[in-house]
Amino acid sequence: MHDTARTVVIHEFGGPEVLRFEDRPLGEPGPGEVRIRHHACGLNFIDVYHRTGLYPLQLPHALGMEAAGVIEAVGEGVTHLEPGQRAAYAADPPGAYCEARVMPAAQVCPLPDGISFETAAAMMLKGMTVEYLFHRTTPLKRGDTVLFHAAAGGVGLIACQWAKSEGIKLIGTAGTDEKCRLAHFNGATHCINYRTENFVERVRELTDGKGVDAVMDSIGADTFEGSLDCLKPLGMMISFGNASGPVPPFNLGILAQKGSLKITRPTLFTHIANHTVCQAMARRLFGKVEGGEVKIHIDQRFHLENVADAHRALEARQTTGSTILEL
Ligand code: NDP
Repeated sequence: MHDTARTVVIHEFGGPEVLRFEDRPLGEPGPGEVRIRHHACGLNFIDVYHRTGLYPLQLPHALGMEAAGVIEAVGEGVTHLEPGQRAAYAADPPGAYCEARVMPAAQVCPLPDGISFETAAAMMLKGMTVEYLFHRTTPLKRGDTVLFHAAAGGVGLIACQWAKSEGIKLIGTAGTDEKCRLAHFNGATHCINYRTENFVERVRELTDGKGVDAVMDSIGADTFEGSLDCLKPLGMMISFGNASGPVPPFNLGILAQKGSLKITRPTLFTHIANHTVCQAMARRLFGKVEGGEVKIHIDQRFHLENVADAHRALEARQTTGSTILEL
């Protein structure tokens, strides 16, 4: 047993240079906790928001929201996990960029033998996000059409495949023609390069002027208004991220003008706060992956020591699919 774990910590908000390494003590798990030794960690855009302070943390704070590994010890009252078991999680508070940690057990999920640690680290946060977007946010049925921005990204490539498996038409957007091809290959019915084409006009053309049933927008500032213009009357705007910056304040009246639109701003962590719901969401994700309906693309790998380079690549829009941090 090692009694410290190498951990990525920030002491101030800022660029990738604020990411530091510390050896943090590892104790025994208390009631409702587990100690998990990681085999791989996931990289997510929310880690950038935490690092920059867009989503403020009490400093100093460890970063990282997703990892997979082996349970080393369980605290009192933990019944769904046992020492030696393979497990994976997406969980708040941040602290997953490390060799091992003691953490609340509620969001840690038993990992089926058919799913590797690396695949799990690449999909828990992104895949459970897609689960709630398609099943818990607005009613969607076979034949409905959804507009999904950043369709070649980590969440995006899972969403393309998930939509196809549910009979939902997904129109994607992405920043290069190559990314568009990737999204299309993964199940998007169309993909629009929103750097070279007007995505609002193109969505109108592709839907015979009707618009889409729902927009899933994680870009924020740059796309918000255009996304609203892509919706059918009574359509649902799901604003779930801010890769280009937060959505500026807006007049609620525009939802009336544009056709009695609905809007929500969900987070994964509200959904997985409930242990039973979290485990059910994970099982649905595992089923999609084990059944071959969703393939997890690990398109970039960095050693944990090079986490700053991983952040730079993600922010520079140089990545596709998922990125993992190897230990
Ligand atoms: P991605 O792999 O999708 O990377 C972000 C992508 O956003 C980029 O590759 C880029 O794709 C696009 N993008 C557009 N504008 C910018 C910009 N100004 N700077 C950087 N990227 C930009 O990341 P993730 O899969 O980790 O996350 C996708 C989004 O979903 C994030 O916004 C994240 O915060 C959000 N999210 C929200 C959750 C929730 O529950 N609310 C949970 C999980 C993720 P392109 O070049 O094709 O435009």
